[in-house]
Amino acid sequence: MSNNNPPPTIVKCPTCSNAVVWGEVSPYRPFCSKRCQLIDLGEWAEEEKRIAGAPDMSDSDGWSEDH
Ligand SMILES: [Zn+2]
Repeated sequence: MSNNNPPPTIVKCPTCSNAVVWGEVSPYRPFCSKRCQLIDLGEWAEEEKRIAGAPDMSDSDGWSEDH
C-alpha cells in the first residue's frame, strides 16, 4: 500500500504561540482561534474600544448636570 499519511504540519499561533495543526481542523490557521486572529488583525482592540467608548461618550455631557 502506498497510502502513507504525511505527518501533520504544526505551526505556531503568531498571537499566543500555541501549536496549531495546519489542516481542516484549524479553520483559523495559522492562528489557534478566532480570538487570536482578531487580535492580530487589530479588530479585537477595536471591539474593546467600542465597548469601552459607549459609556465614555456621555462623559462630557454628564459633567454639566453637576451644576
Ligand atoms: Zn493563539
